[in-house]
Amino acid sequence: MANILDGIKLSKQIKQEIKEEVSQYINQGHRQPHLLAVLVGDNPASQTYVNNKIKDCQAVGFTSSIIKLKSTITEEELLQEIKKINEADDLDGFIVQLPLPKHINQEKIIMAINPEKDVDGFHPTNFGKMALEIESFLPATPYGIMEMLSRYEIPTEGKEVVVIGRSRIVGRPMSILLSKKGYPGDATVTLVHSKTVNIAKHTQNADIIITALGVPHFLKANMIKKGSVIVDVGITKLEDPTKEKGYYLAGDVDFPEVAEKASWITPVPGGVGPMTRAMLLKNTLFAYTQNISK
Ligand code: NAP
Repeated sequence: MANILDGIKLSKQIKQEIKEEVSQYINQGHRQPHLLAVLVGDNPASQTYVNNKIKDCQAVGFTSSIIKLKSTITEEELLQEIKKINEADDLDGFIVQLPLPKHINQEKIIMAINPEKDVDGFHPTNFGKMALEIESFLPATPYGIMEMLSRYEIPTEGKEVVVIGRSRIVGRPMSILLSKKGYPGDATVTLVHSKTVNIAKHTQNADIIITALGVPHFLKANMIKKGSVIVDVGITKLEDPTKEKGYYLAGDVDFPEVAEKASWITPVPGGVGPMTRAMLLKNTLFAYTQNISK
């Protein structure tokens, strides 16, 4: 049976470290770090995500605020709001919770964010810096996985890694980060996606597999090598009337059978999700330390 890569335990530890670092800065006479979230419309999942981010901020001693905007806001009005936020001095970082209503061009909004405050790491400037191995904000999910691999001391140098999924926020940056120079990188990375002809052919040779496709129970035991390390990013809500909430969260990995064969594995929930949340705080702390040293 595989060992568990425990995102809950690790994220608690990281949040404790952040809290201690913040209190040291406060003791030196600095202000609190400040994260702002922009929430457009009333998508319940987005509201929950934003509320969780605010809660996380409070837990580590950050100031946090939310700007709530109606779903009918025009693209131009939202761009104006972002312009104001970009210029706010008392703010270290902000996020625009995605997805945005359909009439707003997401790309245009991301492009409008000041890269120095882009703690989601979605702006092309930050994505480019990441690819060039220049210190920058990293997208929270791949950042969380890098942190997890490193804190569990999972070897990556020279390892065969397969990343399944090539999204901008998970799969593609993950493939870039694991192939970067230095630990936790130096891996030989294969990025597979929906047009890959035979995914199992690649995963069967992999030492580490990162699944980020959003297809429940996609990765089966016969697709992996014995002793491989499995990181499951997928989260899909599946109906289940036997559960109190009427659903459960499924990962991309068929956990019971894959865990029998793997050496390390992330659970869903409780694996990558909590790490993602903690990394937004780490990015905000990075923005803050840059600001207070200006
Ligand atoms: P996305 O933008 O929908 O991208 C999915 C990727 O998977 C695409 O590249 C797609 O290929 C590929 N794909 C889909 N079906 C496939 C199949 N049958 N075989 C091979 N490749 C397939 O999703 P995402 O934003 O990266 O999210 C992926 C999953 O992770 C979702 O379940 C999401 O909820 C979850 N997630 C979790 C966290 C966390 O913190 N735990 C954070 C973000 C996302 P094409 O490019 O060819 O279409």
